Amino acid sequence: KYYNMVEEMKGKIRVFCRIRPMNQSEASQGGVAAAVDKLDDYSVSVETPRGPRDFVFDRVFSAEASQEDLFQDTNRLIQSVIDGYNVCIFAYGQTGSGKTFTMVGDKDQKNPGIMPRSFNAIFDIMRDNGSKFDFKVSAYMLELYNDKLQDLLANQAGETHAQTQPRSPARRVEIKRNRKGVVFAQGAETKEASSTQELYALFQQACANRHIAATKMNVESSRSHLIVGIMVESRNLTNGSVSTGKLSLVDLAGSERAAKTGAKDHQLKEANSINKSLSALGDVISALSADLPHVPYRNSKLTQVMQDSLGGNAKTLMIVNISPSECNLDETLTSLIYATRVK
Ligand code: ADP
Ligand code: MG
Repeated sequence: KYYNMVEEMKGKIRVFCRIRPMNQSEASQGGVAAAVDKLDDYSVSVETPRGPRDFVFDRVFSAEASQEDLFQDTNRLIQSVIDGYNVCIFAYGQTGSGKTFTMVGDKDQKNPGIMPRSFNAIFDIMRDNGSKFDFKVSAYMLELYNDKLQDLLANQAGETHAQTQPRSPARRVEIKRNRKGVVFAQGAETKEASSTQELYALFQQACANRHIAATKMNVESSRSHLIVGIMVESRNLTNGSVSTGKLSLVDLAGSERAAKTGAKDHQLKEANSINKSLSALGDVISALSADLPHVPYRNSKLTQVMQDSLGGNAKTLMIVNISPSECNLDETLTSLIYATRVK
């Protein structure tokens, strides 16, 4: 069924839907009803107060689906990166719906997600083609919080002197595009990696920096977007031609609406900035799928960072993560409706 997905995908956006399992507190309450039902591999049904409502996607994954199952349908996109395409994979959904589990994996990495699996796949594919090509892999890792970009690969060496020396202000990170339209993060580190282990070490450094930054500011890391960009340059050893592909992996901030009561100032600012960026992303996606002549990439920093992997020749995979429970019904419906704007 999927033999030709990658060819078909060029310039298009595919959408997978993944239902997370009931968590312990939902299951132990017993009374928490499931409101979401996978009908078949392509459709999901949601029990609303006004009756069932069905949504169709390129693929639906049930709570039983493993990380391997999901990656099997994602893996071939990684081959495209090595072939010189730009590919973007991102997870959308409310906080707690399984975005980080899907993209990164669980905390102890017993069930690694798409990011670490992609790192492996990139180097596996390169090794298989090592006699014909020379490869160079480099990466930037960023966080976008309150419309401000932070470099997660910046050296934290200054940290140890924090008490005695004033820390130099963090460098300003700005999104730029090169002549070929490829996005790069000016002011942020782009580091080379020559093995899966090296790339994974960079990623772990980024996750640690993200955690430190969030703790310092006393915010939840689920309120920021995590953006990983991996560039793969391949030089054909026979004719010397060079092509560059790029893989953008994005764990978006939670899409839930701000709490109506009790939200503090910084929480409202956060929520506004998340809403603004996610709706800008929705606008870009629906402009692309409607083939509109103008695609509003410039409306937010998020869409600017993702510009080279949305539209054009890029291949984009959106994973909408949803909770199975009745208590999350509103947010689940909102997410599914957002995701179907792509169609
Ligand atoms: P989000 O990033 O969307 O806020 P998380 O990925 O952190 O959500 O998921 C919330 C919790 O549910 C985590 O403890 C995570 O490990 C667990 N979880 C999410 N999806 C799955 C899944 N498919 N299988 C098992 N556990 C999951
Ligand atoms: Mg998360």
